[in-house]
Amino acid sequence: LPRLRFAPSPTGSLHLGGLRTALFNHLLARKWGGKWLLRIEDTDQTRLVEGSVDEIRRGLEWAGLDYDEGPVVGGSHGPYYQAQRLDMYHSHAEDLLRKDRAYRCFCEPAQLAATRLRLQQSGSMAGYDRTCRKLEPDDVKHRLSLHQPHCIRLSTPDEPPPSFADLVFGNPSPHPVPVDPIIVKTDGFPTYHLANVVDDHSMEITHVLRGEEWLPSVPLHLTLYSAFGWEPPQFAHLPLLLNPDGSKMSKRTGVGAFVSEYMDKGWEPEAVLNWLATAGWGGKRDPHAPPDPDATPSYLTLKELIAKFDLSNFTNRRTVLSPNMLLYLNKEHMQEKLSDPVERRKMAERIMPAMKARFPDSPNVNVEYVEQVIVTLESRLGVLPDLPAAADYLFQEPDYNDPVAVKLRNSIPGEAYATSLEASLDALNQLNPANWKEASIKQALDPISAQVGGMRQLMGSLRYALLGGKPGVGIALSCELLGREAVLRRLRERIA
Ligand code: GLU
Repeated sequence: LPRLRFAPSPTGSLHLGGLRTALFNHLLARKWGGKWLLRIEDTDQTRLVEGSVDEIRRGLEWAGLDYDEGPVVGGSHGPYYQAQRLDMYHSHAEDLLRKDRAYRCFCEPAQLAATRLRLQQSGSMAGYDRTCRKLEPDDVKHRLSLHQPHCIRLSTPDEPPPSFADLVFGNPSPHPVPVDPIIVKTDGFPTYHLANVVDDHSMEITHVLRGEEWLPSVPLHLTLYSAFGWEPPQFAHLPLLLNPDGSKMSKRTGVGAFVSEYMDKGWEPEAVLNWLATAGWGGKRDPHAPPDPDATPSYLTLKELIAKFDLSNFTNRRTVLSPNMLLYLNKEHMQEKLSDPVERRKMAERIMPAMKARFPDSPNVNVEYVEQVIVTLESRLGVLPDLPAAADYLFQEPDYNDPVAVKLRNSIPGEAYATSLEASLDALNQLNPANWKEASIKQALDPISAQVGGMRQLMGSLRYALLGGKPGVGIALSCELLGREAVLRRLRERIA
């Protein structure tokens, strides 16, 4: 059974690239009927940021990426915090010491610095000269009895690292393995590499999906696997995400780098996932092949993503995230949700606090009405939180001094304007209140256009008087939403 993992370090807010890694783990685990777990890589105590684990969990929950094992949910391969697994790293380090694949190093910081400098000056790339590899066992014993501070180093081979396969990158040229790197620090904490390999093995991970920045570490990890005598997992590294201008996402321009920004701005989580999953999709397609309709999908639900997703149709080139694509996908996902009564109600409930805050005195701020308004104005919303501004004329009196309103009013001759309002008031007043529906309102208003020199004059006048000039939404539909009383009152007030 495939087992995957998302292994963030709790060093701050969840990054968009982290969310993509979690998403790909989720997609493949679900597709293959396997499991994925959340592991917190918190062995570098100096880089911990308070609250990041909560943030990571909150982000995954928002996105609907439910892991099978991890902090809080538990599981059979825990604990899921590396800081709670120190004994395991120690016993595995001991194992390497016994097998002579690792050794204790007693070199002091000043000595190490001098060694590094000397190596550098002689043109060597090595960071260490293996002094302590040659210590006699008795010498080591003696130093241990004196409690001399020391670290543990992995004995690395001299041969260049063998090539390896990556499910996304193919056969990348392997990065050199450092000379005898530290695996347990003087303070007793394991380095990232030891903890990562021990955990992936003991948690029975079959596939490691993670960011491209870890690709250079693979040869060292493979050296560790072979020192332990363990079968390594399969690797799949995910290319860096880029801003539209080609800069790294971490250097922030254009699109937000942190998941919390997308949560705060009210993007639909499904749209963000869709965006992350399909940016870079189909990149390995043969450029001369006929276009494949499945190669660059746009709107896809999580379910569809799971069904269609495959690492082999994913590019290993750095991937640009386009804000326009996100906007497009967000609208698509909103539309889809609005066609489902349960989701529609949830959307209305989600925006209620913002509506209450914006229109504290409006009697219209109730969930049924707000839901109706969302459905009506949907095409004008990029994200749900655009609603209060887009719908303000339904919850408070229009601002007739708004430049858009003034411009519209000035574009209509005085007489046509006056007649439009008076005739509309008359017609709507006569309309049976039980028929206060878009279609009958439209039917009542349409004939007036002939009296005022055309539809543009009529609709412009009404748009000004009833909506404060707000563009984009139909007048008859707005009248229905606004209600008979408010419509007649606004017309009367503008005529007076
Ligand atoms: N802890 C690493 C990070 O936060 C992940 C390493 C891995 O997935 O192997 O980037």
